[in-house]
Amino acid sequence: MRTALVNQSSLRVDTVAGLWPMPSEHSLIEAIHRDGRCVSIEWDDGIVLETWVRWKGSWELYRSNQMWRLPMSFARVVIEVPGWTAVCFGSVSVDSYRMPDRHRHPQSGGVGPDLRRDDVDLGAVATRLFYPTRAGMTIFDALGDPHVLTGSGNVDRSEVLWSLELSPFTSVGELEYDDMWMIVQSMARSVRSGHQSLSVYGRVGQPCVRCGSSITGARQGEDRRMAYWCTTCQSGNGQRLVPPSSNEASPPADVLYLNEARAARERVRIFDDLRDFG
Ligand SMILES: [Zn+2]
Repeated sequence: MRTALVNQSSLRVDTVAGLWPMPSEHSLIEAIHRDGRCVSIEWDDGIVLETWVRWKGSWELYRSNQMWRLPMSFARVVIEVPGWTAVCFGSVSVDSYRMPDRHRHPQSGGVGPDLRRDDVDLGAVATRLFYPTRAGMTIFDALGDPHVLTGSGNVDRSEVLWSLELSPFTSVGELEYDDMWMIVQSMARSVRSGHQSLSVYGRVGQPCVRCGSSITGARQGEDRRMAYWCTTCQSGNGQRLVPPSSNEASPPADVLYLNEARAARERVRIFDDLRDFG
C-alpha cells in the first residue's frame, strides 16, 4: 500500500460523513505508518487520517479497474491515486487531525522525542511537558503536542490517563515533574504495547472495566481529537499522581533547569492568583 500511495496526489478521499479536517484536493500523500492495528496516512498539507482497524476490518489495495472484494457500502475510507485505490473495510474507527504549526515551523527541529525509538530520552519528554508555557494546557492536549513528544497515537493518551486514573482535563500546571515522569513512562509502554485490549478508547457508553461507570468521549483541544475517559475514576481535577513527599522517581534531568522551571511556574501561578483577586 505504501509503495502505491506514497508521493502520489490523491484524486479522491472518501470517508465517514462529517469527518474534519480533510486533506485538500490533489494534496500529496507523504507517509503511511502502521502501528499494530492503527494505520495513519499523512498528506503534505499537514492532515493526518488515522484508522483504527477493529474486528474484521482491513485495508485493501486495488488496481483502478479491479472489482472490490466487498460492496462499496462496506467501505469506511476510500483513497484513490493514479492507478490505485486503497479501501478500508469493516469495523474501523476513523479520526483526522491537522499537525499543528507544520508550515509555520518547517524543519524547526522543535519536534519532541519519538516514543517509538528504543533510545528515546524519556527525561527530555518529561522536561518538555514540564515547561512553564504548557502550564495552562490540559494534560490531554499537552500529550498530543508534537513539540512535547511524537510517535504516539491518540489511543495512547486516553488509555494512559485512564490507567493512571488521571482526568484528561487536569491542567499541566497542577502536576509536578514526578507526575510527568510517570505519565511519560506509561506513554512509552503504551506505544510499545500493540494495544491488544482497550479500556476506554472507542468505548463510549460501555462500562468502565475498573468501576462499571459509563465511558465518555468528546473532541478536545485545538486539533479536535477524541478523548475518552471514565467519569468516575478519572473525575478529579488538580490531582497529583505522586504524593509531594515521595522521592521515588529520580528523573535524569538537569536539576538547575528544573528549579528555574519550578520558579517560573510559581511566578505564573502567583500572577494568576493576583489577577483573580483583581
Ligand atoms: Zn471507571
